[in-house]
Amino acid sequence: MAAGAPTAPTSSLREQALDGTPLHGTLVIDNHCHVGPTALFYQTFNDAAGMVRTMDRVGMDQACVFSSMAILLDMREGNDISLAAARQFPGRLLAYAVPDPHEADLVRDELQRCLDAGAVGIKLHTGTANYPFDGPGYVPAFELAHRHRLPLISHGTGTPATLRRIAREYPGAHFIVAHAAGGSPKSSLDLVQVAAEEPNVYLDTAASVGYRGDFTEMVRLAGANKILYGSDMPWTCATYQLGRVLLSPITEAEKKLILGENLARLFKTKC
Ligand SMILES: [Zn+2]
Repeated sequence: MAAGAPTAPTSSLREQALDGTPLHGTLVIDNHCHVGPTALFYQTFNDAAGMVRTMDRVGMDQACVFSSMAILLDMREGNDISLAAARQFPGRLLAYAVPDPHEADLVRDELQRCLDAGAVGIKLHTGTANYPFDGPGYVPAFELAHRHRLPLISHGTGTPATLRRIAREYPGAHFIVAHAAGGSPKSSLDLVQVAAEEPNVYLDTAASVGYRGDFTEMVRLAGANKILYGSDMPWTCATYQLGRVLLSPITEAEKKLILGENLARLFKTKC
């Protein structure tokens, strides 16, 4: 189903999950996906067509894609993979541009090139870049996200104090803390607190390890309007994080915000 034209579901989201029914009738946007091959490990269906096939099976409307190549090897080659995926499946795959902070003098032009070619957000991966979130190589990314009111998802956001400082410095950017529900509950609770207090900080559900009760606690502390469904597909299975949302003891309205309505609202601010 096309985004923005959901019809009323006939059963609850929990029932749909337990039945294995595709989530048609509910806007679902995956805010955290990797497209293309990676040298790190074997992964199936990592090209654009494979991802859309997975999306169709679970009833996902849209997926934000950033290429593994851009994160791990070459930003320009990698960003071209994301842009091509978005061109191949317009309205289904949404390209995010990735900067390489070690090529700081090239970053501004590269991000602008991607935005001009249709990218709708920016992804940072401070871990694979081995680069601090508040280092100068990322400043062009923050400035562009602020000016154009874009989502900027980052794997690694420094300390909670660092994230708070950067979020306040660039209030037009929508900062998304990748893997907010991963790691130890204690370490992520600090970041959840920042999201609860800063209007432009959001939390991404993607996580390879989740602890029982974490997700519900995150919703209670930050509010459902600050949490975005993200799977890390195809690095991890798309349905794992869907299940955490669909089966959690929160309201249907809260689930719908997290599954897609929040991110759709953020995309509308682009200027
Ligand atoms: Zn990821």
